[in-house]
Amino acid sequence: MNGWEPVIGLEIHVQLKTRTKMFCRCENVWGEEPNTRTCPVCLAHPGTLPVPNKTAIEWTVKLGLALDCEIAERALFHRKNYFYPDLPKGYQISQYDVPLCSEGRFVVPGPDGDREIGIVRAHLEEDAAKTIHVGGAAGRIHGAEYSLVDFNRGGTPLVEIVAKPDVRSGEEARRFLQLLRQTVIELDISDAEMEKGSLRCDANVSVRKAGEEGYRTKTELKNMNSFKFVADGIAVEVERQIARYQAGEEVMQQTLHFDPQTGTIAPLRSKEEAHDYRYFPEPDLVAVAPPADMVERARAEIGELPAARIRRLEAEVDLDLAYGLVTSGRDALYARVPGDDRRAVANVLMNQLAAAGVDPAAVDGAELGRLVAARETIPRQTFLDALGASADPDFTADPYLAETTVSDAAALDPVIDGILAANPGQVEAYRGGKEGLLGFFVGQVMKETQGKADARVVNERLREKLNA
Ligand code: ZN
Ligand code: MN
Repeated sequence: MNGWEPVIGLEIHVQLKTRTKMFCRCENVWGEEPNTRTCPVCLAHPGTLPVPNKTAIEWTVKLGLALDCEIAERALFHRKNYFYPDLPKGYQISQYDVPLCSEGRFVVPGPDGDREIGIVRAHLEEDAAKTIHVGGAAGRIHGAEYSLVDFNRGGTPLVEIVAKPDVRSGEEARRFLQLLRQTVIELDISDAEMEKGSLRCDANVSVRKAGEEGYRTKTELKNMNSFKFVADGIAVEVERQIARYQAGEEVMQQTLHFDPQTGTIAPLRSKEEAHDYRYFPEPDLVAVAPPADMVERARAEIGELPAARIRRLEAEVDLDLAYGLVTSGRDALYARVPGDDRRAVANVLMNQLAAAGVDPAAVDGAELGRLVAARETIPRQTFLDALGASADPDFTADPYLAETTVSDAAALDPVIDGILAANPGQVEAYRGGKEGLLGFFVGQVMKETQGKADARVVNERLREKLNA
C-alpha cells in the first residue's frame, strides 16, 4: 500500500425470517409464484394502514444487543420518499434519526489481534418488491427489453446495519460479514443467504495517506453477492483509487459495480449530490417502545458470540481453521470429537466430512474421534465411506476400523508386477521421461486392491521397480 490506508464502511441488509411481513399479514416466503403473497396493505391501496410486526421488532432488538448497541426507549418510523416501480407507496417505511439500535460495536478477530468495528445503527424497515429485468445481459437493467415486478418480497422485514468506516481491507470486510452472518443465523432471525438476497452488502470505499485526518471522496460498491466478491471488489477499488491519486488525478463520488468475472469495476450512475429522501415521521404509526421484559428476554437468548469462540479455537488450530469451523457452524461438533491432534480433527471436519455432506449435528463425536485417530492406518476409501455413514443412527466405527491397510511389500509386489506387465506402453513412456504416469500406476494398484494398499509403500515400490 506504500503509505496509503483503505477506509471501508459497510452497510448490510438482513431480511428477517418472520412468518408474516413487516406491516401486513401476508406470508413472508421466498421462491413462491410471483405476486401470490400480496394484500391491499403491501400493494399500497389507498386507505390501508400498516400494523407493525412485533416479532420483527423483538428480533431487531436481539440483533442490536448482539452488536452491543443501545436500544432506544422510543424509536420512530419515518417515511423515506422516492419513486421506483418496486415501491408502490412512493416511500419506504424506515427509521431515520431515532433508530431501534445505535452506537454498538462488533469484534472481528484478525491476524494482528482483535479489531473492533463500530456500529452506527441497526434499524428496522420494509424491503421493496423485486424487479426482474428481462432480455438484457445477466438480468441487469441495461439493454433489458422490459421489467417485471414481483410484490411477494415487498414489505419483508429488513434490518439495515450501518458500520463505522473502521474496516481496513477487503479481507477484513469478508471476516466481518462472515461473522455477522453466523451471528444472525445463531440468533435464528434470518437465513442470511447472499445468493438468495436475504443478506446484502454495500461497501463505501475511500483511501487516505497513513496519518491523514478526515476522509477523502468515497465510492460505493453495490450489492456484492458473495463473501469473495466483497473482498475482491474492495481490493480492486482500493488499488484503483490509490493509482488515481498517484497519477495526480481525483476520485469521483460514484456508485460502482464490480464484475467478478473480469475483476473490473464500472460506474453504475454518477452520484453528484446526495438523494433528498425528504424523511418525515410516519404519521400512521406511533413510536416503538420496546418493553423492558422484551429486551431482557432477547438478551437472555444470545449465546456466546462467534468472535469469542474463534479466539478460543485459534489457540488449538489456527485463525483460518477457527474461522472455518465457527462460520460453518461446525465448531459444536469439533468440541464433541476427542483426540490430541486438534488440527487433524478440524481438517477432517472442514474437508472430508464437509465433502461427504453429512449433518454435523447428527454425528457421534466419540465415534468420529476413533476414525480420525485411525485415519493413517485404515484404507483411504474405508475412511471416506465411514465418514459418509457417520451421521447414520447407531453408527459405530468398529467395522471400518477392522479393515487395515496393506503395507507389506511382499503382499503388494505381485500386484505391482502384474500392473507393470499389463501396461508395457506406459512403462516405456515413464522410463522415457513421462514421470507424471506414476499416478496412473498408483491408481491401478489401488483399484486392484480395492483401495486397501498403503499409498506411501505403493509409491516407493513403483518408483524402485520403474527406475530399476
Ligand atoms: Zn400484504
Ligand atoms: Mn435500507
